[in-house]
Amino acid sequence: MLLQAASPMAIPIVVLDPEVTAPAKQVSQPSVMPLADPPLQHVDGAFTSLGMISQLAQQVDILTIEIEHVDVDALEHVANEFKTTGGRSGQGVKVYPAPSIIRTIQDKYAQKVHLQGQGIPVAPFLPITSSPATSLGSNPRDALRESVLSAAHQFGYPLMLKSRHLAYDGKGNFVLKSADGIDEALQALIPEASLATGKPIADRLYAEKWAPFVKEVAVMVVRGVDGQTRSYPAVETIHRDSVCHIVYAPLRPVDTPTSGIGKEQRGMGKLGEKSVDRRAQEAAEKAIDALGEGAVGVFGVEMFLLPDGSLLLNEIAPRPHNSGHYTIEACNYSQYTAHLYAILSLPLPPIKFIPSSAAMLNLLGWSASGSDDFLKPDGVVRKAIGMGAAVHLYGKAGCRKGRKMGHVTIMGESDEEVKAKIDELVDVLPGDYK
Ligand code: ATP
Ligand code: MG
Ligand code: MG
Repeated sequence: MLLQAASPMAIPIVVLDPEVTAPAKQVSQPSVMPLADPPLQHVDGAFTSLGMISQLAQQVDILTIEIEHVDVDALEHVANEFKTTGGRSGQGVKVYPAPSIIRTIQDKYAQKVHLQGQGIPVAPFLPITSSPATSLGSNPRDALRESVLSAAHQFGYPLMLKSRHLAYDGKGNFVLKSADGIDEALQALIPEASLATGKPIADRLYAEKWAPFVKEVAVMVVRGVDGQTRSYPAVETIHRDSVCHIVYAPLRPVDTPTSGIGKEQRGMGKLGEKSVDRRAQEAAEKAIDALGEGAVGVFGVEMFLLPDGSLLLNEIAPRPHNSGHYTIEACNYSQYTAHLYAILSLPLPPIKFIPSSAAMLNLLGWSASGSDDFLKPDGVVRKAIGMGAAVHLYGKAGCRKGRKMGHVTIMGESDEEVKAKIDELVDVLPGDYK
């Protein structure tokens, strides 16, 4: 989608991805762009390989990421190596966002420590460590169990256990309902095999107090090289099994009876004079500013709206984000165009949400293996096209259950109209996704 946004401005992009047929590589052929000699080439390789990242860096002026699970040491090396010389034009390669920011964000515990240190409200959290002060013998599993119990003692149940690294779509999270589940949780998050290796297992997990949210809210923030910051409207994200399922844009009024938040106006909250939307945007902008100068590009900020109307920050994605896909059709410029403007040091015009109401539905793979036929006659895609929705199918090679294969964006005159259309689409999804 970033390459699709680059295409109208003929901005050449070279992609590093392990797969030769990666969706991004399907979008452009840098080798036929009349820009460089030798011609630009997509790179087939790992995001974790210094050699591959260097091969990419040699071809570009600006290097950015669309996934945070990259080797930051390699990015830092490249940023230093190519600081003033090298790269496509020989004048150095800029890495956005700064590798140090990606490093903080990719460790979810370090990210929480940073945010808390900047005075940004987050759910209370504690490290889970295999080396507690008390002497518990040499069994790391016992020490971990003890550490989880101590967190549960402080925060109560349910307790959210999270992997610090390589988490996405809830993979790496475990909701602990009682002390009886600790072994199962440790087994799931740190499998037996990895304990048996004898390698240190400290610092792999942390615990978070359960946030009894009434809604999950997200804001896309774009920050330029000069520090100018703009945010897209706050949206509601609805997760299913920890995977983003539907996004409603802008944020709908909270109508949960326990919420105490007014229904009359979109997103109006009872804490203070400002609406939830505005407070969410301000919190998100503050969080991105707090990352420092190197925070350049677009960022997804996930938050929890609590029953009393206050907001907790859940996590930051240092890249375009699923909760911002609606911006492609529903805003004057999309999160992808915004990212390009930011990293290319171009102006960031005011952001406008165009329709009255919009929503995005993710198209997740539903078969365990093989390919789902999204275009089949009675399927969701045909129905979405029929109702005038924008359909995106990513062209991923393999379809797995729960894998994000595409999405659909609906725009309408009212929240009711958009909701009715989403309901109609969800109705034709296979059983698990209704
Ligand atoms: P992503 O795919 O967004 O990167 P992730 O795997 O990093 O997700 P989180 O965002 O930490 O995981 O959590 C996934 C979902 O789990 C959240 O969107 C929310 O629904 C739920 N969740 C996370 N933390 C908490 C919490 N402290 N209390 C209650 N629910 C939570
Ligand atoms: Mg995450
Ligand atoms: Mg998340």
